[in-house]
Amino acid sequence: MNPKISSSYTLVFSAILIICHAHSSNKISSPGDFLRDLNGTRKGDNAKGLIELKKYLAYLGYINYDNYPANSIHVNDDFFDDVVESGVKEYQNFFKLRLTGFLDQETVNLMSKPRCGMPDNLYNFSPGHGKVHRSISARYRLVRAWPRDKRNLTFSYSLDVTAAAKVPMVAALLKWSEISPFRFIITHVYDDGDMKIGFKSRDHGDGHPFDGKGGILAHAFYPPDGRVHFDADEIWAAEVRPGTMDIYTVALHEAGHILGLGHSDDPNAVMYPHIDYGQARKPFGQDDINGIRALYPNN
Ligand code: ZN
Ligand code: CA
Ligand code: ZN
Repeated sequence: MNPKISSSYTLVFSAILIICHAHSSNKISSPGDFLRDLNGTRKGDNAKGLIELKKYLAYLGYINYDNYPANSIHVNDDFFDDVVESGVKEYQNFFKLRLTGFLDQETVNLMSKPRCGMPDNLYNFSPGHGKVHRSISARYRLVRAWPRDKRNLTFSYSLDVTAAAKVPMVAALLKWSEISPFRFIITHVYDDGDMKIGFKSRDHGDGHPFDGKGGILAHAFYPPDGRVHFDADEIWAAEVRPGTMDIYTVALHEAGHILGLGHSDDPNAVMYPHIDYGQARKPFGQDDINGIRALYPNN
């Protein structure tokens, strides 16, 4: 081969390798894919797929290897170390499962279900009073409120949102108007929206890559960010149908984040993180109503 051609081949090939590497480092897998072989694994085990579990737990805020420098050698391997055990316990604690610290059946079953991609364990905040201690009956978490003079929120769509998808999205926003002081107004200029709604796939540039079909369904950033992203690789439907994900149900949940609510550990709450395919639409739970009233107490 002509050395000139050969070297340009090498160059192209290296470039492809670099791109692939950059991509894989920011890639997460759906738990349906990696949890299958991890049933029963516990501290001290080596099992293929534990590296994916680590990424999943870190993505959802349950582990952070930066806080455990002594364990940093295990960030990118398949070893079930202390950090994973503590993350699994935190997960079990949030969802009121038995605190076994290993991947028991109950934990694997719940983790396998699709869910919102926002982290579960966030500090709880009380408007004007700093952090608040949660009472036993309150299962909601408050993250951040819109300022007092902001009660009309505009929303806009990226071009990939179809007319059929917009109908349940608007219905979900109207539902929040019933229990919150907010009004929602469409704007046709994408950049002008307080809420910017779109479908995204895999790594889409905001540091929170999606994972293909299954697993993470959507995420929405707290005030005043307002971006709402649905995972384009899910099978979305404008009504409840078996095997599909109902846009309204997910939009209702994500809009709660846009208003400043975190996740609730009450399975009856709209703000509970896990949502099943074909799941019937939930009405607001008392916990959602209590949460939004606690976040916006004076109006
Ligand atoms: Zn969520
Ligand atoms: Ca997904
Ligand atoms: Zn996103």
